[in-house]
Amino acid sequence: MSTYSENFWHPMLHPNEIKQREAIHIVRGDGVYIYDDKEKQLLDAVAGLWCVNVGHGHPQMKAAITQQLDELEYFQLFDGISHPRATEMADKLIAMSAQENMKKAFFTSGGSDSVETALKLARQYHILRGEADRKKFISLKNAYHGVHFGGASVNGLNVFRRNYEPMLSGTFHVDAPWTYRNPWNCEDPDQLAEFCIQQLISEIEHQMPDTIAAFIAEPVMGAGGVIVPPEKYWPRLREVCDHYGILLIADEVVTGFGRSGSMFGSRGWGVAPDIMCLAKGISSGYVPLGAVLVNQKVEQAWESNNDFNGVIMTGYTYSGHPLACAAGLAALDIVETQNLPENAKQQGAYLLENLKEQLSAFSSVGEVRGKGLMIAIDLVVDKQTREPVDPMSGFANELAAVARREGVLVRPVGTKLILSPPLVFEQQHCDELIRALVVAFREID
Ligand code: PLP
Repeated sequence: MSTYSENFWHPMLHPNEIKQREAIHIVRGDGVYIYDDKEKQLLDAVAGLWCVNVGHGHPQMKAAITQQLDELEYFQLFDGISHPRATEMADKLIAMSAQENMKKAFFTSGGSDSVETALKLARQYHILRGEADRKKFISLKNAYHGVHFGGASVNGLNVFRRNYEPMLSGTFHVDAPWTYRNPWNCEDPDQLAEFCIQQLISEIEHQMPDTIAAFIAEPVMGAGGVIVPPEKYWPRLREVCDHYGILLIADEVVTGFGRSGSMFGSRGWGVAPDIMCLAKGISSGYVPLGAVLVNQKVEQAWESNNDFNGVIMTGYTYSGHPLACAAGLAALDIVETQNLPENAKQQGAYLLENLKEQLSAFSSVGEVRGKGLMIAIDLVVDKQTREPVDPMSGFANELAAVARREGVLVRPVGTKLILSPPLVFEQQHCDELIRALVVAFREID
């Protein structure tokens, strides 16, 4: 049995937990398939980690990155310096988000960086406008916003905070609008949206509105279990934030560039946020890249300020890395020319409908839910009470292991299986994925 190297620690795993596991070494990728070191072909139903949206080994991506390597491998964006790919990429991002009235792009090197930057810019925005007391953040229970201290503080899953406390003070969490599990046992989407909004308003009033900088949320919650909010939720969020002068930050790290079936997740709800956090699909994962976009309202605070308070004292060595921007320009070109948001919408609808039809009868399948090509299968011990499986039982891992044997890589996350395939998935790939999952549930359920 080939085991993992002893020389590194995996993210988000106990180092002892995997000592005896058979190692999965992915050595090669081609389109929607990846290959392990034994040349076993696997359908990549997780797009690496929600990111390889254009598929593996795309010739246009390889050409763009190698051409950039021939020109300029690296230069910084500090000290007022720039390079062509960064400016072209900023222009591209602002053009793509014109509908949301985004005006400036600030580059980072990944999703956690983007969230951290967005939180900092939100606080600074209020200082520039003479409301320096607005320092607090509100977010959703179950949310995932990365692992830096700011992001971990607004994460709604307490496992990300527990061993690293104290966190950023002044962060508060309200319930996510999840029809399957919520404190009101409410399954009516409209009613639930309003319960959640009223709870948010009550928290804002309790914290005192003029102390709150921003509300941050994912348009469709990803790692927390693909929680799709009711249609009315985001428009109501926008109203509430406007009413109280609170910035609305959309963490689009997963939903940006088509995954949930629209170019941006917030666009899918007909809402323009004030700040967007981007990463993953921005460069299709080929080279690490992130960005924060701010709208005209936010940008204006900087336009009308000329003192030190306006200096953006944050940034990363690899902000807007030339190879990453070259990859980003190619990836976004593919996303647009192949209309991948529309493909995600269509293939996602097909996948969701068929998974529901074929898996719902299994006793351990609680809910199958999703939007676009982000889908979760909630695993339960009791369908009536909806009690989740014990996350330590290894049940999700066992299902994933059978799916792997059947040639498909899915992601077990505690009490769920998560599916987030490349956005170039076709119907035959959906069928392959469904078949493997049916075999897995038949065997393990
Ligand atoms: N925000 C969201 C919504 C995410 O899903 C993730 C990662 O999965 C992050 C932020 C953090 O991104 P990264 O892992 O690139 O730091």
